[in-house]
Parts: sequence; structure tokens; C-alpha cells
Amino acid sequence: MSPHRWLLADQLGPHFLDDPGQPVLLVEAREVFRRRPMHRQKAHLILSALRHRAAELGDRAVLLRTGTFREALGQLGGAVEVCHPHSRAALAFARSVDGLTVLPPRGFITSQADFAAWADRSRRAPLRMWDFYRENKRRYGVLTEPAGGARARTPARRDPLDVPPPPAVEEDDIDAQVRRDLDRWAAEGVRFVGRDSPRRYPVTHAEAEARLAHFLRHRLAEYGRFGAVMSAHDPTLAHSVLSSSFNLGLLDPEPAVRRAEQAWRDGWAPRSAVEPFIQQLLGWREFLWQLYWYVEPSFRGGRWLPATEPLPDWFRDLDADAVEARCLADVLAGVRDRGWAHHAQRLLVLGNYGLQRGWRPAELVEWFRQSFVDGTDWVMNATVIGMSHYADLGRVDTRPYAVDGAYIDEISDYCAGCRYVPERALGDLACPYTGGFESFLHRNGARLADDPRLTAELAARDDPEHREAVLAQEEKRGDNPP
Ligand SMILES: Cc1cc2nc3c(=O)[nH]c(=O)nc-3n(C[C@H](O)[C@H](O)[C@H](O)COP(=O)(O)OP(=O)(O)OC[C@H]3O[C@@H](n4cnc5c(N)ncnc54)[C@H](O)[C@@H]3O)c2cc1C
Ligand code: SF4
Repeated sequence: MSPHRWLLADQLGPHFLDDPGQPVLLVEAREVFRRRPMHRQKAHLILSALRHRAAELGDRAVLLRTGTFREALGQLGGAVEVCHPHSRAALAFARSVDGLTVLPPRGFITSQADFAAWADRSRRAPLRMWDFYRENKRRYGVLTEPAGGARARTPARRDPLDVPPPPAVEEDDIDAQVRRDLDRWAAEGVRFVGRDSPRRYPVTHAEAEARLAHFLRHRLAEYGRFGAVMSAHDPTLAHSVLSSSFNLGLLDPEPAVRRAEQAWRDGWAPRSAVEPFIQQLLGWREFLWQLYWYVEPSFRGGRWLPATEPLPDWFRDLDADAVEARCLADVLAGVRDRGWAHHAQRLLVLGNYGLQRGWRPAELVEWFRQSFVDGTDWVMNATVIGMSHYADLGRVDTRPYAVDGAYIDEISDYCAGCRYVPERALGDLACPYTGGFESFLHRNGARLADDPRLTAELAARDDPEHREAVLAQEEKRGDNPP
């Protein structure tokens, strides 16, 4: 008899199976939910996706509910194989189990060998996503024609976005049972963060495919223009909101890339919208996945900016009601209510706030992982530590994403309704992002010498009296909600 294929909770799409007759193992291990708090909607997605997959596979699948994964494997007995897990901890566990065969990774486009060959070719040069993306386009024959044409105009703050929202997903009896189980676990002491809501995100391949098809037909055309925009009135803008579907393994990224390219060829969306979307999947997503395995875990001990402050409770608990700063209150409420925010909100509102205040990167990584429905180790290490929380990743080219309130005002409609004034760094109306930005520059100036943008920003603020006043004000603000 062929071995069971163990499908982990992030390996639930058809591309994680080959032989249509092979028996399948699925495991719900309580240790995952007990170990550390998780967003309630993320816990729901994981359980619902596992149970839906078991229902789809019928007699072919066995779904075991145990305390630990080891118990489940012991209960099943016999030979088991699993595709390469998506975290170092899970890989180490899989390798420690006798009789468990670890197969090559799936759910990504580039092979580890191809990435290593590319990275090793330029031994001394910093690794840049743009070079990797260019190489990947060539390797996979995607968007090979020169782009040409004008770049899409970034919309003004109040330009309306006229696209339908992602279509709703329907809950069923499986979701109802998941909700009852999670209520019971919570009563038994398992800690969740965030609010429950009717399920917002796909849990099956079919639901995710329907979302992708809707996105390509109705939303992709505006993706490029609205990528870096933030709006208090529209949490999703033209984003695909498919990250949890990719990360649960419901969608295979390579066909998604091909279909996005086809959407351009069919005239559904301009190249200026399709290219940035494909760049996220074939560029960023692949690059960060490969970096996670290529760069040794010791990179965490690299050339940190000093960042030793703990995360304050209001942030950890997603207490958006305690926050007056409109941008941060809105994004934090989105995380509390939806377990999701788009890229600019994560980078410029959440990560930027923590970077300015020197919050501990490892705690911020943990916070992102637990609070987001798509939160996953391999993105987070490089994204939070490398981009949001500037740290030397060895050979990886990174910059600190520190910006002030005036920048947030340029790309959002938040500031008009805020009690603070984006240009002010000092006084009662001082924007916490502007005061925080200046304080960050003054505290870290010498370490930012190789960043021309921040060096120029620092040089423009050379009044010692103003500097001392800003530093004292931000020190006083401490970890109070802004
Ligand atoms: C501080 C910080 C933390 C983040 N943490 C995560 C995380 O835990 N998990 C996660 O999947 N993404 C993470 N991202 C990347 C990105 O913000 C999300 O993937 C994206 O916002 C998800 O929304 P979407 O599906 O609408 O993406 P879209 O904008 O529609 O992009 C399409 C797809 O491309 C991929 N993608 C987009 N941007 C990135 C990126 N920068 N890196 C890797 N893949 C990307 C995702 O799979 C996404 O679904 C993080 C970004 C930042 C700045
Ligand atoms: S003024 Fe500052 S705190 Fe208020 S919304 Fe703008 S950037 Fe955010």
C-alpha cells in the first residue's frame, strides 16, 4: 500500500497531491492553538480549511484530532510522506520523525537549487528582488515583451475607485461546527486575539479559484494605480486579498501568474496593472520564500538598529479604540476585525510606527504572525525584519521604511479627519508619525549614513533646540497610544 500523504494546514490545494488513489492524512493538533495566541479568524480559517479538505477527499482521507502532531503520527502508524514544510520549526520536526519522508517543496515557482545558483552567481553583490524578478520572468517566459507605454498615474487622494469588492464566501455546517469548537476552546482558556466575524476568506480551492477569477476580471485593472494608496473608506482597494489562499496552499501561484498575464493579453487589464501584480507573486513572494531558506537563521543577529522596546499592550491587544491617530486607529481596527491589512498599511502605518519607536523586531514578527490571517514565518522574517524594521540581512539589500506624517498624507485620505496635523513635529497637534520620524532620525543618524534619503532628511533638521524638544516630546509619549 502506498504511504499516506500528510497534508499540512498550508498544503490544502490539489497541487499538493499526485496519485488520485493515495491515502491522505490531515491533522488538527491542539498544540498549534495553545502555544501562543492567534487571531480568531485565522484559527477559524485553518480548522475550516482542514475540515473542508477532509470532506472533499471523503474515504480517502483520515482526519485526526490530537494534542500534538507526534501523537497523530503515532496513532496512524505505517509509512507517511509530507511535502517540505513551510517553516524551519516544522521541517526540523518532520525530519525528527522516524518513517516520515520529506518530499521537495511545493506551492512556489522557483526551485531552491535555481535560487541558490542565481544568488551564488553574484557572490559579492547584494541580493535584490528586482534582479531576481527579472531573472524569473526570463526563466519562466512571463511578460517577456518590453513594457513600453506610459506608467499608470498614482491616483490623487480622493480619486474614487470604482471596482466591486471581493465576492462574499458562504459559511456552511462545517463553519458552524468550527465556530462552536473555537467558542468551547476559548471557554477552556485557549487565547485568541481579534474579533470573530462571518468567514471572509476562502477555505477551499474552489472558493479561492472563484475569488481569483473575480479579481482578474473585475479588480486587476486598477491594481497598479491603487497599490500604494491608503483609504479610510475602502480597506481593500484593488488588492486581491488572496494572501491567505496562497498561504493555505489553496491556490498554486504559477497558474495564477499565467492567468494574470493572459488577462493582459485578453485586454482585461493594462500591462501597468498586471506587471505589479505578477511582480508580487513571481518576484516578492518567491524572493522572500527563497531567502528564508537561503539566508542562515543567524541573520537575525545582524546589524540591528537599536530596537529594545517591548510592544505596548494596546498594540498587542489590537485596541484600536484607545488610539486617536486616525491612520493607526483605522489600520489596527482592520487587523482586529478582518485579520488583514494591505501592504502599504502594514509597512507605513504599523511597521513604521514600531520602527520609529524601537520596538523589538522579534516581538513585532510574532505580532504580525498571530494577528494576520496570512501571517507566516517565511514572509515575516524578511519583511518585518528587513523592510519594516531595518536590519542587515547579510547580503540582502534593505532600507528602513521610516516615513513621516506628510508622506502618509500624500498617499492617503487619513489626515484630513485626524486630530493631529501631519506636518507638525512639535506641540499638542504634532503628528505622532512626524515627531516619531524626527526622533528616529536623531537617535539613529550615524547608522543611517549610507541611506541618501534619510541622510538628507536629517540634514534638513539641524536645529539643536528643535531636536532636543522633539526627542523630549517623543520620550514622554513613551508607549502610550498616540
Ligand atoms: C510588515 C509586513 C508584514 C507582512 N507579512 C506578511 C505575511 O505574514 N504573509 C504574507 O503573505 N504577506 C505578508 N506581507 C506582504 C503583503 O503585505 C501581503 O502579502 C499582502 O498585503 C496581502 O494582500 P493581498 O493578497 O491583497 O496582496 P496583493 O497586493 O493582491 O498581492 C498578490 C499576492 O502577492 C503576494 N505578495 C504581495 N506582496 C508581497 C510581499 N511583499 N511579500 C510576499 N508576498 C507578497 C501575496 O501572496 C499576495 O496575495 C507583509 C508585508 C509587510 C510590510
Ligand atoms: S496626521 Fe499623522 S496620525 Fe493623523 S492620520 Fe495623518 S499621519 Fe496619521
